[in-house]
Amino acid sequence: MTNQRYLLKGGNRLGTTQTDILISNGRIENIGVGLDQNNVTVFDVSGSVILPGLVDLHTHLREPGREDSETVLTASRAGVKGGFTALSAMANTSPTADTAGVVEQVFRLGQEAGFLDVFPIGAVTQGLKGEQLSEIGAMADSLARVRVFSDDGNCVSDPLVMRRALEYIKKFDGVIAQHAQEPRLTVGAQMNEGSVSAILGLKGWPAIAEEAIIARDVLLADHVQSRLHVCHVTTAGGVEIIRWAKARGIQVSAEVTPHHLLLTDDLASTYDPVFKVNPPLRTTKDVMALREALSDGTIDIVATDHAPHSSETKDCEWQEAAFGMIGLESALSIVNKTMVQTALLDWAGVADRLSIAPARIGRYQEQGQKIVVGAPAHITVINPTLNWIVDRDLVLSKSRNTPYHGYELPGLVTHTFFRGQPVVIDSVVIDKVAK
Ligand SMILES: [Zn+2]
Repeated sequence: MTNQRYLLKGGNRLGTTQTDILISNGRIENIGVGLDQNNVTVFDVSGSVILPGLVDLHTHLREPGREDSETVLTASRAGVKGGFTALSAMANTSPTADTAGVVEQVFRLGQEAGFLDVFPIGAVTQGLKGEQLSEIGAMADSLARVRVFSDDGNCVSDPLVMRRALEYIKKFDGVIAQHAQEPRLTVGAQMNEGSVSAILGLKGWPAIAEEAIIARDVLLADHVQSRLHVCHVTTAGGVEIIRWAKARGIQVSAEVTPHHLLLTDDLASTYDPVFKVNPPLRTTKDVMALREALSDGTIDIVATDHAPHSSETKDCEWQEAAFGMIGLESALSIVNKTMVQTALLDWAGVADRLSIAPARIGRYQEQGQKIVVGAPAHITVINPTLNWIVDRDLVLSKSRNTPYHGYELPGLVTHTFFRGQPVVIDSVVIDKVAK
């Protein structure tokens, strides 16, 4: 790597102290006011907030198998545009990421793309079928060094399989990320079960289907003294169970998606399948409970559950449309809107929930570090006062299924640095990444 040096001038570190940051050799070389501007490339970021590079613990990159919806490369570009310097590739690809071979393939694709770190997640069970454990040990020992295991998209519903998985991962400090959804209670479900589903005549998805699995799994995690991560919590009742488990010292962490912090189930009445997502959009009461839980730390992190779908699988009747929405490019703005502008989180809190905590849960090395001298220079710059209008025709994701088309959102990511190199400058992704 050539030793290019960059000076971020006048930004507000974590939204408070105004300071310059000198980046050199992939690391933060100096922090202070009025740093020397000779022989460095200067970026004036005064008025902007400097955050550690964002880390997403839940991303669907679709490669291998559904390259018509997304690839590791297109997701990487969308990721850095949204301020991420690490993504976690969910295992529900085709073939499933249930062997060392597939996770190493995804890991290599991430390195070749070169925009950010791609950490593969391994499947808990072979083919996500919920029956036989996958090659968990081989994936942990592989080049990809997998620590997070998930059948996301499916719930590991058999309690004995879940128990064995939780026991197995202990020897290398892994974590099971559960898509908490009792399958028998959600057969054919199309949206949240409640007054809106009753009016629309769509099959409902009861909150208890999520809460029953969360309750079971925190008890299992406690029983075998292992680590559980609850994916995309959506209900006020789920929050209460996690709060109870944490108070008992159970090793549980949890995530919420940006869309569950903002959108509600009444959007289904548009019958626009862009709002069809698994788990479903819930009620205003749930949204408020999720915000409160993210604020007080009951929910540890925000994760995007970025779920690209080609128009072939998404632009159809509600009943037939695939579940999921994209989210990498809008995540930080949604968190700004729902959590920062409402004074539920300050920027230090955002750095924790979107960078430091997800990297800690995933045991990701060199990511989610504080902005201090010597730290790896994964840095995100957001101008919180610049608004932008979401246009699905301008997203960098290969799919257009954003629920925010036409929304004006607060806060624009202007610069992203990955390993000390600018990969986004003035909100434009730099394709010739110097390596
Ligand atoms: Zn899921």
